Amino acid sequence: MTGPDKLPPAPQTIAAAHGVATDQSFGAIAPPLYLSSTFEFAGYNQPRAYDYGRGGNPTRDLLAEALAKLEGGGGAVITSSGMAALDLLVSRHGPNDLILAPHDSYGGTMRLLKARADRGHVRTRFVDQANEAAFAAALKEGPSLVLIETPSNPLMRVTDIAAISAKARAAGAKVAVDNTFLSPAIQQPIALGADYVIHSTTKYLNGHSDMIGGAVVAANPAEAEALHSWANTIGSIGAPFDSWLTLRGLRTLFPRMEQQQRNAMTIAEFLESHAVVAKVHYPGLASHPGHGVASRQQRGFGAMLSFELAGGEAAVRQFISAVGFFTLAESLGGVESLVAHPATMTHADMGEDARAAAGISDSLLRLSVGLEAERDLIAGLEQGLAACES
Ligand SMILES: *Cc1c(COP(=O)(O)O)cnc(C)c1O
Repeated sequence: MTGPDKLPPAPQTIAAAHGVATDQSFGAIAPPLYLSSTFEFAGYNQPRAYDYGRGGNPTRDLLAEALAKLEGGGGAVITSSGMAALDLLVSRHGPNDLILAPHDSYGGTMRLLKARADRGHVRTRFVDQANEAAFAAALKEGPSLVLIETPSNPLMRVTDIAAISAKARAAGAKVAVDNTFLSPAIQQPIALGADYVIHSTTKYLNGHSDMIGGAVVAANPAEAEALHSWANTIGSIGAPFDSWLTLRGLRTLFPRMEQQQRNAMTIAEFLESHAVVAKVHYPGLASHPGHGVASRQQRGFGAMLSFELAGGEAAVRQFISAVGFFTLAESLGGVESLVAHPATMTHADMGEDARAAAGISDSLLRLSVGLEAERDLIAGLEQGLAACES
């Protein structure tokens, strides 16, 4: 991709075309997939740009460059999963380091942080970042890293990234934001003060539910280089083919997000007006407590939402057996619409008491809204809701 020199390409252009038409051998438009594990030296003591695939791979690096640019960072590391991305950052810390994470962290994040703490690798503390007194008290303990997830899973609570980052920074802590639920098309945490952005590329960035991957973007180029070196040390790297698929998915990130969030808004309004729905959690609704902050720090409201059925667990069963076009499955961010029941699926491990404390009731359902026609998605939901009424 070459363009006018003076104008830095817009994010949409980076997503659609970073690395396009750069093939020197044959002029391939689509960047080639380099599967080779090792690379020939030019001669005695003369390594080329690449020597061994754990340390670097052209396909993986192209994806890393594109993500770093989209997040406004100094560099990125591509890992084998979102959890590997989080652990790449966490495992650089030591037994004296404290990591502050949200009390309603993604389940896998909570499991990883607890497992690392149980083994004495790091110290961890889970706090409600919306509770100013509790967060201020936790900052007094001198954390090394503050982790933010916004919007949260599955209640879509919105955290003010700029406000939390400023407080964390004043306390001497670095800030990492899990941006999986929105992608850089909608939210750029580094511009709001974060030091790192974590992604499960499995979700919106790839967008087609056909690979597992992750990424860490660092604001500071030297930090990105250190993470790159650490990934090479511990072997926590993304496969070239998965990187190629993710780069292919990234091409359509912006139009996918735009259409999916438009569908989500229509669905949220439809659900909010329906008699058998007790509550809808979607930051795009004026009724949502995070609506104001989301309007400020996001370019849109995303395509994830959750809602509670008035009829409790019985209604959930009826809804799930009757709903159309939404498939019962975990994960999110693909072109296809999915419905999940957090209490028996994504949040089953949490235990009943912890779920109750976090506000995750048995009648809560989470939707990942896809690219299907709005008309079909509404009809599919109507069919599910009608079954709850009978
Ligand atoms: C899925 C997810 C992860 C974990 O990513 P994997 O690719 O499944 O390892 C982390 N954070 C959030 C918010 C997620 O949705």
